Amino acid sequence: MGKIHLTNLNERELAEFVENAGEPLFRARQIFKNLHGRRQLSFDEMTDLPKRFRAKLNETATATSLRVEKRYVSEDGTRRFLMKTHDGYPVEAVFIPTENRDTICFSSQSGCPLKCDFCLTAKLGLLRNLTTGEIVEQIITVLNDVYGAGAETPHGTNLVAMGAGEPFLNFENLIKALDLMANENGLHIVPNRVTVSTAGIVPKIREFTRLEKRPHLAISLSAPNDELRDKLMPINRKWNIEELFAAAKEFQSSLRRGERFTFEYVLLGGVNDTDEHARKLANLLNRHGLEKVKINLIPHNSAEPLEYKPSTAEQVERFQDILASKGVSAFVRRPRGRDIYAACGQLAAKDAAAPVQITR
Ligand code: SAH
Repeated sequence: MGKIHLTNLNERELAEFVENAGEPLFRARQIFKNLHGRRQLSFDEMTDLPKRFRAKLNETATATSLRVEKRYVSEDGTRRFLMKTHDGYPVEAVFIPTENRDTICFSSQSGCPLKCDFCLTAKLGLLRNLTTGEIVEQIITVLNDVYGAGAETPHGTNLVAMGAGEPFLNFENLIKALDLMANENGLHIVPNRVTVSTAGIVPKIREFTRLEKRPHLAISLSAPNDELRDKLMPINRKWNIEELFAAAKEFQSSLRRGERFTFEYVLLGGVNDTDEHARKLANLLNRHGLEKVKINLIPHNSAEPLEYKPSTAEQVERFQDILASKGVSAFVRRPRGRDIYAACGQLAAKDAAAPVQITR
């Protein structure tokens, strides 16, 4: 009890910790490099620290708070890691390999307080916010599993905050984690390689807009009018489309070179995917001057007890064509890892058919 979790600390806080421990300041830099740069999550591996200091660290501090419980590998190569916090809450991260670059999808909360009707994570409710260290540790754990402990992080690893939870309801910890991960002595994953997805926490979109360094932004929309969005994403009753779009427009006008801004739209067969919905969506975007924002169409990933079904391939194409005919470009996201409950909206600490042996 009471051990200090060092992956939570930035360089300045580590310096304070080291100072309080009566050690020379350069030890702070060593610890930072070991944790984040070499991805060492145990003090015993940190052989550049004196043995006596390592023993002291083991007594007073900890480098890990997550434990991998299960690891699933999909037939398409996607890997899902089901971890537990030190106090027993589930945390999930997903590794998604593609030809050009790999993506790690991480969670910002254990469970989620939002009640999106098509999402399995919602069924868990909010268990708790994850700490900065717990966010960073997910990425370290996945990288070590895929590339080997400490092995060079291949350039091109992207991060998406699209796992369990609503990132903008854990804003401070998330931003601090992104800052730690961007550090060139650490993981060195810069904001340009990160996308944060929000269900539409309007005041936080505004706060995000004001950030000096920020990742790409995605907003989950999934309906072209308030009536339907109220049902599918109850957060809409708090901040409706009008308010959401006001913030989105401010963000759009603050866009800097190279930044990406997308809307996500989960396609639910017969519910929000008809020709009429596509026309309404395009009109809505055009009316607000947001037609330049790219749309990511996400085919619904079903899982018990969700009652929605995916759109037919034909309807997905029609939806995309109708948007295009009104000047809105949309991409269809290929589902990954469905067979192991690793796809969007499927993270609910579910057991899949065949867990693969845990490596550590
Ligand atoms: N809370 C944030 C981030 C997590 S969800 C958000 O809502 O954006 C990441 C994406 O998965 C969101 O776009 C969400 O709409 C989508 N999603 C949720 N459940 C899904 C499901 N069953 N099938 C496909 N996509 C889903």
